[in-house]
Amino acid sequence: MILEKTVEGVKKQVRQWRAEGLSVGLVPTMGYLHEGHKSLIDRAVKENDRVVVSVFVNPMQFGPTEDLETYPRDIDADCKLCEAAGAAIVFNPEVSEMYAENFTTFVDTTGVTEELCGKSRPIHFRGVCTVVNKLFNIVTPDRAYFGQKDAQQLAVIRRMVRDLNMNVTVIGCPIIREDDGLAKSSRNTYLSKEERQAALVLSKAVNEGKRLIAEGEKDGEVILGKMKAIIEAEPLAKIDYVEMVKWDTIEIHHTADCPVLVAMAVYIGKTRLIDNFIVE
Ligand code: AMP
Repeated sequence: MILEKTVEGVKKQVRQWRAEGLSVGLVPTMGYLHEGHKSLIDRAVKENDRVVVSVFVNPMQFGPTEDLETYPRDIDADCKLCEAAGAAIVFNPEVSEMYAENFTTFVDTTGVTEELCGKSRPIHFRGVCTVVNKLFNIVTPDRAYFGQKDAQQLAVIRRMVRDLNMNVTVIGCPIIREDDGLAKSSRNTYLSKEERQAALVLSKAVNEGKRLIAEGEKDGEVILGKMKAIIEAEPLAKIDYVEMVKWDTIEIHHTADCPVLVAMAVYIGKTRLIDNFIVE
């Protein structure tokens, strides 16, 4: 496996693979890889001849008061995980390699970015779409893999790819959880022991929402109300949002009568965690 720091290095390698008729999968990440990321890489390795994992903490998708500086990083451990999983390249560029001075071109996906995380993190998806677009241009993957953990991101990328006729198939992968239900996340490392326990309210609320819908409840107000009550009972938790939206358009929707995404962002102490479920 190659650790590649330059755009040209990746392009050159991909050109060579293309000349040999090989297919290419891309798994974009911000690193500090865990089992959730690994599930994407495993699937990409199964479905493509060669897999590129990008590890890049993208400053453009962080707001001024967010955790860009403290975001956990461990490129050596990331490379080991990628090599063991069968990736061909870890692409780990410096910020200056990705963003030239006076960088002024952005990809803005509107509509699907207005609710949920787009509301609390107004510049986030512009940063995500811009960097993912750049990664697509650099790697030219046949398939790109994204987790349902970041469900709105998955919907936004699908919209961008459709709207801009990009030659890539976007593949969504299920949420990987800890044994006790907490969705795996690089940000879980921020949690103290007490907060780690408190963070279970997210998956408990998810399970309650799923249970209610499985029992036939369709009223969004009832479903979200009971989910919020679980979170509000935890003193260390503070709700950013708990919402039901249409899965394809990410518009607020009040009834579970079509494919819906039920998503939440909750602060546990200073750490903002997300979780969700989709009703197809
Ligand atoms: P990140 O490094 O957090 O930007 O995540 C990179 C990719 O891994 C995104 O597509 C995430 O949705 C996905 N991912 C992160 N955590 C999980 C998880 N627990 N289960 C499945 N996918 C995940």
